[in-house]
Amino acid sequence: MSPALPSFDEAAVLIDGYATRLGQLRPPVERVSLDLAAGRVLAQPLRADQDQPPFDRSTRDGYACRATEASAHSPLQIIGATRAGDAPAGPVPPGAAWEIMTGAPVPAGADAVVMLEHVQVSRGKAFETRVQLLPPRKLKPGENVVAKGAQARMGDELLAVGTAIRPAQIALAAACGYSQLEVFVRPRVAILATGDELVPVETLPAPGQIRNSNAPMLAAMVAAAGGEPWVLPTVADDDESLDRALAQAADADLLILSGGVSAGKFDLVEPALARMGAQFHLTGVRIQPGKPLVFCELPVRNARTAKNENGTKCFGLPGNPVSSAVTFLLFAAPVLAALAGRHKFAPRYALARLSVDAEKQAKPGLTRFLPAFCTFSGAPGQIPEVALVSSQGSGDLAALARSNCFLVVPERSSILEAGATVRILLT
Ligand code: AMP
Ligand code: MG
Repeated sequence: MSPALPSFDEAAVLIDGYATRLGQLRPPVERVSLDLAAGRVLAQPLRADQDQPPFDRSTRDGYACRATEASAHSPLQIIGATRAGDAPAGPVPPGAAWEIMTGAPVPAGADAVVMLEHVQVSRGKAFETRVQLLPPRKLKPGENVVAKGAQARMGDELLAVGTAIRPAQIALAAACGYSQLEVFVRPRVAILATGDELVPVETLPAPGQIRNSNAPMLAAMVAAAGGEPWVLPTVADDDESLDRALAQAADADLLILSGGVSAGKFDLVEPALARMGAQFHLTGVRIQPGKPLVFCELPVRNARTAKNENGTKCFGLPGNPVSSAVTFLLFAAPVLAALAGRHKFAPRYALARLSVDAEKQAKPGLTRFLPAFCTFSGAPGQIPEVALVSSQGSGDLAALARSNCFLVVPERSSILEAGATVRILLT
């Protein structure tokens, strides 16, 4: 192993810094309707178009009144009712109460709502309807009321540019009256699988051949990370084919190659990138799997987008499926997120308790990422439990597909006995 190779931590810092710088450039913007906005990135700040809630809102079915007047001893006369959707009513005079439903505006004069379940309703002498607290209940001013503007003031910025749009953000946009949103144009990500042994998924592999599973996996990972996948035909392991394919793929904002980056006789990707004038940022990282990973930038070809002013970003991922998956998550995803205009994106880690011994997995000098399964039971006082998935190595796709995270084995020897607290990379 070359001692010159950066450690995992060093490579992660390099990628993080690179992605942060890249994130300062703004991709082009387009408008999409709200129902197509999931998975996109906000290119405009989302603002409240009115106070939220727009009126003092009851959070309960019950009776609105002056909190100081609510008691178990002197009943309040019920003089009106407001349903959700009714305009604000009132005023409620002293000594009176007002029936109210969840989501309805609290009438003027009232400052609290007592829950239906906490009162007794009765008839008075003049057959008026009266309400009184059931002991030992009490009512505090403001109870069961969200004041107008308590969640947001009209004009407040509720979501910043660069926010990833998920269901909650869509709901908020709808609540604020946005039927369309300005989002960043998705970066176009070319996916180029290399290898003489590869056949398309529809083809029955001849002896010695395998199906190209990396391209569809990487396309799915690209889409999940906010890119627009552009899967190119498989490339044979010869210089001419590689040069041709690279010239075509360099039109993309980001190029993801799989295979051909190890030290074998037919691992021709790095020299092909060098022939194109690539500027290399990483040509290996002390991780396992994924050590031969390449990260570089190609000279400007087709500066379609502002992001590409420094040339197409390019990753050469090792071809083993687990290696491709891990290196994409660790290194390509943050760069892709930055190209997509996302702010504050980083691989997600968590702590978990190792449920089965993994002591034999440590390899000095290498940070390892091993397919594992974590159970997030949420049991009180318990951190998640993680165990390795049994695997035949970095070509074992079935093991990868049975996993839901990677166990991180640090490069310096550490305790990996059952019961130890360990770091996991979430997928
Ligand atoms: P390489 O990185 O080219 O040396 O490939 C390493 C291993 O990954 C070999 O066993 C390849 O057959 C396998 N491999 C390479 N590319 C793919 C791919 N696109 N899909 C599935 N397996 C692949
Ligand atoms: Mg190969």
